[in-house]
Amino acid sequence: MDLLLQACAQLGLSLPPEALARFAQYTAVLLEWNQQVNLTAITRPEDILLKHYVDSLTGLLPFPPPPAAGADLTVVDVGAGAGFPGVPMKLARPSIRLTLVDSVGKKTAFLRHLVDVLGLEGVAVVTGRAEELAHQPQYREGFDVAVSRAVAPLPTLLELLLPLVRVGGCAIAWKRSAIAEELWAAERALGLLGGRLRQKRALRLPGEEADRLLLVFDKVRPSPPAYPRRPGVPAKRPL
Ligand code: SAH
Repeated sequence: MDLLLQACAQLGLSLPPEALARFAQYTAVLLEWNQQVNLTAITRPEDILLKHYVDSLTGLLPFPPPPAAGADLTVVDVGAGAGFPGVPMKLARPSIRLTLVDSVGKKTAFLRHLVDVLGLEGVAVVTGRAEELAHQPQYREGFDVAVSRAVAPLPTLLELLLPLVRVGGCAIAWKRSAIAEELWAAERALGLLGGRLRQKRALRLPGEEADRLLLVFDKVRPSPPAYPRRPGVPAKRPL
């Protein structure tokens, strides 16, 4: 756990006191369930700390400070899998209201169990495809922030994320550093979906040789109702 605190300090992130015990519980539940359900290929506790928790927590860096009064941001994690990046972000900043989405029932069963074991409040778990949820009135342009890690190449990912974000909000994507081409390919999708690249932030995790990139896209105009297209189409025929 010292490793977690050190890495957070290096990145300029702070953790509330109760978070450390929660991260330890998270690791225990994750490894237990991972024997039955394929949740992660990373199983050494130190690796889970850095490659899952710290990597997820970097998503908080572009967030504005929590408001002194009133509600904090609403965040949707698309393709949350075993809870990354959404759950570590919630542990570090408990005031966010988080919706975890995954299309696979076994993953959302794990997420529901996890939310229960960690005693998290203000977290919803939804089984479904982002392409469908984004057309439901309660979710469409309903979030301040959409986050997603390791789900799809950018043009596809933007079609899944931006329709969920309100105008004035943003989408955050986790990427390897060598993505110049992917970013270039995403220009058209950004224009069509009402997004604009705000920030490309290179981050080096302790012990790693290469940078990771955090991409922040502002939602500047509403997404046309035609997007996202039917399930599978954003991946098969990227914009
Ligand atoms: N974000 C996690 C999991 C990545 S694996 C992490 O970084 O570890 C990708 C996950 O996205 C899988 O669990 C898969 O079921 C989910 N997924 C892929 N496409 C999706 C879609 N269109 N809608 C919802 N979930 C999706």
